[in-house]
Amino acid sequence: MQQNSRVALAFGMCPSENKIKTELRSCAACGEPISDRYLLEVGGCTWHGSCLRCCVCLSPLDRQPSCFLRERQVYCKADYT
Ligand SMILES: [Zn+2]
Ligand SMILES: [Zn+2]
Repeated sequence: MQQNSRVALAFGMCPSENKIKTELRSCAACGEPISDRYLLEVGGCTWHGSCLRCCVCLSPLDRQPSCFLRERQVYCKADYT
């Protein structure tokens, strides 16, 4: 029991423990966790800025004012309509 409390104390003092966030979201496109702060949220899903691109013309949508989601596929305005 003494050893257990010692382990807990070591964890509490570990500075990197504070950096771990439980709210880490995974990218809807590539499935990788998004640890960078450049994260896009579209239709309840999160995306890497570099992963959010139109599935038809492959143009990046992270700079577009709007993009469209249908069945987890992302479209630019021209390809969605
Ligand atoms: Zn991604
Ligand atoms: Zn497109």
